[in-house]
Formats: sequence, C-alpha cells, structure tokens
Amino acid sequence: MWYESFFREQLADLKRQGNYRHFAELERHAGHFPRAFHHGIGRDVTVWCSNDYLGMGQHPTVLRAMTEATERYGAGAGGTRNISGTSPQHVALEHELAALHGKEAALLFTSGYMSNWATIGTLAQRMPGCIVLSDAANHASMIEGMRHSRAPKHIFRHNDPADLERVLASLPRDVPKIVAFESVYSMDGDIAPLAELCDVAERHQAMTYLDEVHGVGLYGAQGGGISDRDGVGHRLTVIEGTLAKGYGVVGGYIAGSAALCDFVRSFASGFIFSSALPPAVAAAALASVRHLRTSTTERAAHAERVARVRRRLNEEGLPHLANPSHIIPVMVGDPVQARLISEQLLTRHGVYVQPINYPTVPRGTERLRITPTPLHSDADIEVLVSALSEAWSEFSLARAA
Ligand code: PLP
Repeated sequence: MWYESFFREQLADLKRQGNYRHFAELERHAGHFPRAFHHGIGRDVTVWCSNDYLGMGQHPTVLRAMTEATERYGAGAGGTRNISGTSPQHVALEHELAALHGKEAALLFTSGYMSNWATIGTLAQRMPGCIVLSDAANHASMIEGMRHSRAPKHIFRHNDPADLERVLASLPRDVPKIVAFESVYSMDGDIAPLAELCDVAERHQAMTYLDEVHGVGLYGAQGGGISDRDGVGHRLTVIEGTLAKGYGVVGGYIAGSAALCDFVRSFASGFIFSSALPPAVAAAALASVRHLRTSTTERAAHAERVARVRRRLNEEGLPHLANPSHIIPVMVGDPVQARLISEQLLTRHGVYVQPINYPTVPRGTERLRITPTPLHSDADIEVLVSALSEAWSEFSLARAA
C-alpha cells in the first residue's frame, strides 16, 4: 500500500507552500526567562513568542508548590478522577477557579483544548434541539466540540453583536442556544465586546460560552480575564480558561453553575475517559492563580512592556496590527518571507519568534506574533526592534507611515 508515500507527499506539499512547521528544540532555564538554550544553533536565545505571558512558569512560588507537591504526592494522578480518586489539589484548584470567576463551581481538564471540545460537545449534543452560534474567528477546539456535537451551527460575524442579533432573530425562540466566543483573539489580539454580546444573548435567552484562554491571569483586578475587567462574569453561563498561558503551567477548566459543571463531569467523554492532571500540576496552577489574584505587579509590568515594544516598532515604522491587547502581530504577508525573517532573527541576533502561517492565520496575513513579558528588558526590546528593522530593509518590506 501507499501509506508512507502518501505521508511524504503531503509533507512535501506543506514544505513547498512554506507551511511546514519546524520545531525548535529549546531548553528553558528556570530563573532566566525569557532566555532559553536553542539546540539547533547551539546558543542562548531570547524568546519573544511564548504564551507564558507573565513568566509564571518559572515563578519561585509556582516552582516551590510544584516541587513540594511532587515530593509529597508523586508524579502522576494514577488515572481518571472517577477511578483513581480525586486529590485535594484538584478540589482546591476548582474552588479557587470558581471563586476567581464568581461562579458556583469549576471543573478541571487536562488542557484548554479539551475543556472546550468536551464542554461544547457535551452541552450541544445533550440539550435537545440545541443550536450553536459561533463567532467566525473561534478557536479550533471550540469548533471541534461543535462538530462533535452534530448540533446545527450558525456563524456570526467576528465580534459583531448586530450580526449575532440578526442570526438569533432568525431562529425559533423556544429552542436552547449556545453563543460561543472568545475574549482576546490570539492571532489578531482584538478583544470582544462582551457586554454587548451578553445583551443580545440575554434578549434571546441563549446561554453564553466564553473562552478566556488569552485573558486569564492577565486582565481584571484578580486576573479573571476580560470578563473580570469588564464586570460581566456573572452574565456569562460558562467561562473557560487555560492554566498553560497566563498561569504558566498546564491544564484547562470551565467555571459555571454547580449543576452545569456536574453535568459536564458526568457526561463528557473527554473528562470521564482521560487521566487527571497530576496533583503537583494542580498545586502549581493553584499557587499561580492565587498569586495573580492578589498581586498586580506582573500585570502592570506586562502592560508597560507591551506599550514600550509597540512604541519602538512605531518609531521604526515596523507594521503591526493595532489592538488593545498584549499580542503584537508584526505583519509580513508571505509565508516564505515570514520564515526567512524568523530564521535571520534567530541566527544573527538570538531572537526567537516563530512565524505564524496558514492555516493558523489566513493566507497573505502571515506574521510574527510577538508576546512581550514583564521579564523582557529594555535591552532585549532594542535587540528585537533593530533586528526586525534590519530584516525589513534587507527584504525590502514596506514600512508603516
Ligand atoms: N482556546 C484558545 C482561544 C486558544 O488559543 C488555545 C490554545 O492556544 C486553546 C483554547 C487551548 O488551550 P490549551 O493550550 O490549554 O490546550
């Protein structure tokens, strides 16, 4: 049979299009974030594209919690929570997350991806006649959950409450509906009008499902995300988040009513049939969530660093998408050039930033997605901006006015 040749041809196609994804073997050094050793080029580099947005993955409090919990409780969870038992670390983390979002309960998953897939899949499949309304730019994990549910799906224009209103008005009033959207969209860095989307959903008695993956830890007085910042958490039926980005560890969760979380716990195959997060991971995530509920130092420093990078890019005329978030997409517009620039930044300047190509972003909008952290210094920023400026000149790319 032709299995192997099929795989090779498909990969060759990806390479021809410039869309083949290369892994970089990076060794992060605890305590030296955002520095890491790059095995491919044999030297330390500065990481500019990590989703460990606040550097919490190396925060001493988080490391201590994880190390102590590993020594006390061992490495793994031993299986699913139904069979191997739940641990006090899981329970405490769920209480903390519920409190963070002002909800009755929370439920942990092994990743944010799984929490979206399992929760949307289960709710939309099990509620009789359910219809899903999905923002046009929703993440793959939500879309996969919708597909899995086989519930009818309607897409509304990205971040457009008027279009959501139009779609909802065309649907029968007395069937259950889930309106699913994100707070911070990870590739363009734009932020959803949460209150307006809730207004529309409430008028039509629809449930709301918010993916706060790129907001939690980073926004709001307690780090509850954009819903915390905008004071609308209580209006959302489900808030979903990750423990892998702003919180720097790994895992995902939903927060909602006690009945909803228990329903998902009881019916979602992605929860029931998958081993639980190790207790040490839960302990580390708990330390991170707790820390960011009270400390605003990281959020303030993060916002200041982001503003500085934007200002320096503007001064050099380096085109980046204007948005109100911490994500800075520097636009290249060609997959091959994006890759070549990324390679040049790495090999000449020790600047590590991966190109983002199709299908993650539409063709023609290829970019370098820069994510400053509180731990990038002024000197790091100068190296980044001058390396980009040099590449812009060498590749004859247009500068912004
Ligand atoms: N939702 C969004 C919007 C994401 O961007 C991601 C991951 O990048 C996920 C969910 C999945 O989260 P996790 O990385 O925890 O699986």
